[in-house]
Amino acid sequence: MNKILFVTSEAYPFIKTGGLGDVAGSLPRALQKCKQDIRLLLPGYRSVMAQIKNPQVIAEAFHYGHKIRIIETPLPSSRVKTWLVDCPAAFDRPGNPYVDTTGNNWSDNAFRFALFCLVAVDIALNRCNLGWQPDVVHCNDWQTALIPALLNGYSERPASVFTIHNMAYQGLFPKQQFFELGLPSSLWHPDGVEFYDQFSFIKGGLAYADYINTVSPTYAREIQLPEFGYGLDGLLRHRSDRLSGILNGIDNDTWNPGSDLHISYRYNKQTIKNKSLNKTELQTALKLPIDANLPMIGMISRMVEQKGFDTLIGALPELVKWPVQLVILGNGQSYYEKTLTEWAQHYPHKISVRIGYDETLSHRIEAAADLFLMPSLFEPCGLNQLYSLRYGALPVVRDVGGLADSIVDTNETSMANHTATGFFITDNQPATLVNALQTALQLYQNPEVWRQLQVNAMSQDFSWLKSAEEYVKLYQLARESIAGGDET
Ligand code: ADP
Repeated sequence: MNKILFVTSEAYPFIKTGGLGDVAGSLPRALQKCKQDIRLLLPGYRSVMAQIKNPQVIAEAFHYGHKIRIIETPLPSSRVKTWLVDCPAAFDRPGNPYVDTTGNNWSDNAFRFALFCLVAVDIALNRCNLGWQPDVVHCNDWQTALIPALLNGYSERPASVFTIHNMAYQGLFPKQQFFELGLPSSLWHPDGVEFYDQFSFIKGGLAYADYINTVSPTYAREIQLPEFGYGLDGLLRHRSDRLSGILNGIDNDTWNPGSDLHISYRYNKQTIKNKSLNKTELQTALKLPIDANLPMIGMISRMVEQKGFDTLIGALPELVKWPVQLVILGNGQSYYEKTLTEWAQHYPHKISVRIGYDETLSHRIEAAADLFLMPSLFEPCGLNQLYSLRYGALPVVRDVGGLADSIVDTNETSMANHTATGFFITDNQPATLVNALQTALQLYQNPEVWRQLQVNAMSQDFSWLKSAEEYVKLYQLARESIAGGDET
């Protein structure tokens, strides 16, 4: 059994802005089932603290002139102990974990997450009298990436694993902030956290973690290429012997069309015809024409360039000529929010766009849609295509990252051997998306073929167990690497 400190800036259901929240809410539970002794460390954001009934302070820390309380509470509906880092100066504010209510990054993010990392280091080095020292600190994304760097050099330290959920977010700050935060000057060099004279959080993880992984095997290869590496591909190639890809799993209880409380008509492979009842209900709710036979294309996403919205917008002039409905839920960059909203206003019978974050609606779209769109430019893993498989909404995806690792393109062979689960687009040209959708919609006209594709999709198993077992092996490797004095 390993003692694991799982450090993350978000975890569902406490707080979630994207895939990291889902992963951090479900992987620790799966790890616990694999007999790992796990603690989840999470910032005590205002919205999280509001959910805690009886805050139980188990330890205190002190950084940057602030007294910090560590509060223990279970991760809801689980036995995973969560430790919240309660420091009002850093986390008691409105907005989301990273941006204020107007969508701008909090100007003191370097301070907020450096403080979070310092508390994690205190726990990792057993300085908080918790009577529990981890064997492995599992860090996730840039907000936690200083931890491996800060631990490096201590002889009694735990091993560190750093998981990249998205290379596009690196935590880059002006150089002076590094020195203002009083971080060890030994880290300030090109092989440390300096990145072209800027302070890079993510480099702390990439350069110092004992083992690095990302959330799909294909993305692990892609980030070693200049196109996907954001200037860090050289470092990643250098560390390739310590870099692997482990595909994310999904929470099969939360995302189960057979028991989903967010949807009105539950279904499984045998009762798949109930799915169309969810479609007509959603059409009614969104004021779209009610027709169970009209193909519905769904999309749920942060509205950022990564997700392929330019490809979609380029394809819209063609799509609106077809007998289809497009239902989009998301928020993000105002250009995409505005452009898509305008399209919906011009074509209210064809396009429905909801700007905002809505967990319930996201489940209802999965249950209603026939096809699900993810034309991403890159995708570390992607979760929505996995949810879509489960809900029989066939994914139309760009063949990159975790999308390539989880979807099988529909062609004669894959249809014949019942492995086909979705449709690939091989570049980001709008015409390519149009072609893929045309192929899909032709097959939709043949109910028998379509039903088989849905059954193929719904038969896939992306539960966490297999991936959690791979993480346990990674923890073991990380422990062995420091036990042998094999410091990086
Ligand atoms: P990313 O982490 O890049 O945002 P993923 O596909 O890995 O992409 O995970 C996105 C998660 O966030 C999914 O659970 C998805 O359903 C959810 N999500 C994204 N935008 C919204 C939204 N506007 N409303 C509800 N859920 C959303």
